[in-house]
Amino acid sequence: MHGAPRRRRGVRRRGRDGGRGVASVERLRAAALGKGLPADLVERALHGLSPDHEITDRVASQAEHVEPPGAYVSRRVSRERIAAGHAWLGVLRKELGAIERAYGVEAAVLAAIWGIESNYGERRGDRSVIRSLATLAHADRRRAAFWTGELISALSIAAAGEIALADMRGSWAGAMGHTQLMPSTYLAKAVDFDGDGRRDVLESPADALASAAAHLKASGWRHGVAWGAEVRLPSGPGLADPGTGGRRLLPAWRAVGVELADPSQDVTRLAGPLQLLLPQGLAGPAFLVTANFEALLRYNNAMAYAIAVGHLADRIAGAGPLAQAWPLAQRAMTRDERIELQLRLMAFGHDTGGIDGILGNRSREAVRLFQLSQALPADGYPSLDVLDRLRLTEIYEP
Ligand code: CA
Repeated sequence: MHGAPRRRRGVRRRGRDGGRGVASVERLRAAALGKGLPADLVERALHGLSPDHEITDRVASQAEHVEPPGAYVSRRVSRERIAAGHAWLGVLRKELGAIERAYGVEAAVLAAIWGIESNYGERRGDRSVIRSLATLAHADRRRAAFWTGELISALSIAAAGEIALADMRGSWAGAMGHTQLMPSTYLAKAVDFDGDGRRDVLESPADALASAAAHLKASGWRHGVAWGAEVRLPSGPGLADPGTGGRRLLPAWRAVGVELADPSQDVTRLAGPLQLLLPQGLAGPAFLVTANFEALLRYNNAMAYAIAVGHLADRIAGAGPLAQAWPLAQRAMTRDERIELQLRLMAFGHDTGGIDGILGNRSREAVRLFQLSQALPADGYPSLDVLDRLRLTEIYEP
């Protein structure tokens, strides 16, 4: 129904890009041919391709608006999604049990990935994967090489006859099927679990869930180990500088006053060195995370994503809500404010690793050092409060 108007809009807008879109298709064509992909397939995939403007708009707005971790987790770990995940555990008990035995990834964790990635198969995405990736390869310059690599992987899947070009549909980021595998991950990790001879992550939940499990297993997932657990921090000076905890075993964290939020939690599942996470600073919940958390990050490299999957898995398995609420009333910083924060931190001599409005580890470390210099609780969370403090500090302590 929506195909025709969308296509018309694409044609009408193509001229506005001038030569840029065409030149970038030329570059993609050369890259694909350079990888030895068949010329007729490359031609069919790329001929007449126009940029998807909903995707270019999205790339631009993502730079402007960054959803805080608490809002991300709360929206995804909804009551409906917990209930549906619980129901699916029952419906697919046999398949999930077999996948858990084969790959050592717990059924509830796989159900949670399925729930977060596609709402249990409801939202697998119906955009052309080729067009999305080609658009991203020229719209998202910072990651152009990554998107080009994914496009070549998608073409390789078609060249191998595994998924036809016309059937290759997915999210705006080119992720496909029930568990939203990127094309390169599909090539490397997808499996045929239901035994029909095809790795069908688009239509078969068993294939998609087993492929996700194979990916997690290869990323170091250990069966019987939790992703992490919510903790309570000591009040007062017991943990003056939570940002420098590094990785410690549970008894070492307990020795400095960190306690599990749920005292009935099975501590044997918190094996190995644990890292303290304060996704939204001291104003939000705190977690100790295991090496399995790192495996989730290899599925999708975003802290809020890994927490959402872990927490949803716990909830599907019967755990209660977080003890500490997320500070949802806190407004997210605009891009201008993020840049101002970085400029002011740099003026104080704290290196943010660039003035780009992207608040990564270097910026968090710079915030932490500033907080320490001001005798503030040093959680390293870049917030409007920190920006206000920076503004005031410059006035009173020039
Ligand atoms: Ca199959």
